[in-house]
Amino acid sequence: MKAATMNVFVFMGPPGVGKGTQSGLVASRLGAEHLSTGLLLRNEIASGSELGKAIKSVVESGALVSDELILSCLDKRLESSKKGDEWLLLDGIPRTLPQVSGLDIVLAKHDLKVDVVGALVAPLDELVERFSYRWTCSQCGRVESFVDAEVALKTSCLKCGASHSFKRREDDSPVAVRKRFEVYDRETAPVIDVYRKRGILFEVNGLRAVEKVYVQVAHRLVGD
Ligand code: AMP
Repeated sequence: MKAATMNVFVFMGPPGVGKGTQSGLVASRLGAEHLSTGLLLRNEIASGSELGKAIKSVVESGALVSDELILSCLDKRLESSKKGDEWLLLDGIPRTLPQVSGLDIVLAKHDLKVDVVGALVAPLDELVERFSYRWTCSQCGRVESFVDAEVALKTSCLKCGASHSFKRREDDSPVAVRKRFEVYDRETAPVIDVYRKRGILFEVNGLRAVEKVYVQVAHRLVGD
């Protein structure tokens, strides 16, 4: 069981807006446990488990896995999570309206609730181009931009130190990226309105420089 005083921060934003990078920065600023559902699923796929095999093609196509599956993965993950942190940062959930109520139920089981929601905002058409340069460290998930593929393949990861670890994610291919934007627009954007109505949402322009976005998000959460 988690401490009842733990604050849950849900971090949202369209594909390619830099949410993964910002989540890492903000989580270390808050001393938060960072729980990325995308990473959870990619690790499951990499493990070669039966579940991983079953979800591989869905995740790589840019579609969403079922609400039941992601909520049960989250529930299981929370069972084994560290206790006593002041913050839990959820990155990648909820992605659909049913996941909003599902998340409330799973969190309540662990004596938690969604306390604050941050959304990085950017026009979708401005984000599409970013994907052609996007490389992800296969060891730790760090995302970097490389225009030149040869440089990407030779570069060591600044976060975990792995060498030759940068890869293109399957779901960063042009076809999958189109699908991810469609899904975001149709399924995930309406989730933001729910939290706006609850009065717990803040929005930040995600197109600004990484440090500026980070400072604004951190300021909204801890006031400095
Ligand atoms: P992300 O790393 O957050 O971009 O997630 C990568 C992929 O994992 C998504 O395109 C989905 O296929 C899957 N995924 C991550 N989170 C969820 C979720 N909350 N619901 C359904 N599918 C998800």
